[in-house]
Amino acid sequence: MDYLPVFLQLRAARAVIVGGGRIAARKADLLLRAGARVTVVAPRLHEDLHSRAAAGDLTYLPESFLPAHLDGAVIAIAATGLRDVNTAVSQAARERGVPVNVVDDASLSTFIFPAIIDRSPVMVAVGSAGQAPVLARWVRERIEAILPASLGALARFMGERRSSVQRALGAGARRAFWERIVRGKAGTDLLAGDEPGARRAFEAELLISQLTTSAATGGSALGEVYLIGAGPGDPDLLTLRALQLLQQADVVLYDRLVPPAVLERARREARRIFVGKSHDGNEGHTPQEDIHELMIRCAREGLKVARLKGGDPFIFGRGGEEVEALARAGIPYLVVPGITAALGAAAGAGIPLTHRGLAQSVTFVTGHVALDDTLDWRTLARGRQTVVFYMGVGKLESIVARLRAAGAPDTLAAALIERATLPEQRVLRATLAQIAGLSSSAGILPPALLIVGDVVGTSVAAESAVPPAPQPAETAADLIQPI
Ligand code: SAH
Repeated sequence: MDYLPVFLQLRAARAVIVGGGRIAARKADLLLRAGARVTVVAPRLHEDLHSRAAAGDLTYLPESFLPAHLDGAVIAIAATGLRDVNTAVSQAARERGVPVNVVDDASLSTFIFPAIIDRSPVMVAVGSAGQAPVLARWVRERIEAILPASLGALARFMGERRSSVQRALGAGARRAFWERIVRGKAGTDLLAGDEPGARRAFEAELLISQLTTSAATGGSALGEVYLIGAGPGDPDLLTLRALQLLQQADVVLYDRLVPPAVLERARREARRIFVGKSHDGNEGHTPQEDIHELMIRCAREGLKVARLKGGDPFIFGRGGEEVEALARAGIPYLVVPGITAALGAAAGAGIPLTHRGLAQSVTFVTGHVALDDTLDWRTLARGRQTVVFYMGVGKLESIVARLRAAGAPDTLAAALIERATLPEQRVLRATLAQIAGLSSSAGILPPALLIVGDVVGTSVAAESAVPPAPQPAETAADLIQPI
């Protein structure tokens, strides 16, 4: 090894360039990028250097070189093209112990410039000990071609998170963690320009690393996933099996519909992670694939994962997709049914979903169908049945319009139940023709269900449990029953 490759910290250090030509200008640029305080000594200046000097980026001394110019310098460059001046610079620098580079003359230099690839903060430097600079540049080009342009962004991303990882993980776990960041989804996403994706993948990775280092998982044991229906909100409506499994979980992944009172029933040490979506299920906080990945990774690390979903996992809950993903990955899982919102709301509002003589069947429909022409609206509009719309609050008007267009009578009974089974539950009853207008004046918000059918008019249980709604109702407020 003829030279030792090192990276010099030059921030605010005095760098002296002797010579004012084009090459001197290039070296000045490089030193300025490294943060040096640059002084150029030369009787005349190249125009690039002129503008730099005029802008105050560097100090220009319009003089011939004197050894004293190197006093206090930490690096010196001679680029005059005049051998005697270059020799004088080299000699003065050596006398002062200042590293010196004489352009195109390795014999007068104590250091040489490598060919560089700058993906700051990542730098690649290639040298040939001055013997084959063209070959060094060729090597640089080949390396350059395989390094992604966003390498610097990845390095900065990692740098910004260094100290938080240091706090979160023990020394032993850190190296493997960073390996997974660089080689895994976070790194790939960031290099592809998807910073939000990289951030999510990073958080998930950190979480898994923390969980697996803190939980007593016995190392090699395969974990499992419990897909648990949390019911409509009231924690007393959890099943016994849901409670048992929540008590065993190392980690709980929960949706927006799961209230704090339900989460409290999980094992105290269990790590609770929100992976929710908005009420209409559209705008995802955590994309569905990321939830699959998180469940699978946790289980592979030997953790017991409770995947807690509002209502029942298999009713408009994407539970089917999660089970498919787990089965594909070979992860053992268990599905625990929950009381779906329609059942909670029906009980809370005292509406029997089927009732002798009034409804022989009940249908659960997603409100997304409001914009769907493939659905058989005529079947939904027929009598002697009950139809429950989930996720329909934002689309009430079009749901009602479609039902009426398909033959449902304007006088058909309808009810909206907001936050069913929770202390804030509200029930709004009206005819099909009135329900949308009354809903907006009452300010009904998700989560809420629309129930349509003659059974809404019966309110068998509700009438004994709550004061009857005033008849005839005049305002929306009159129609809202507290329970
Ligand atoms: N898997 C859930 C449904 C998820 S879809 C279940 O079985 O209940 C989300 C929709 O469920 C909401 O838009 C709303 O229509 C309904 N929902 C969930 N909880 C509710 C509650 N406490 N009160 C009223 N509607 C609710």
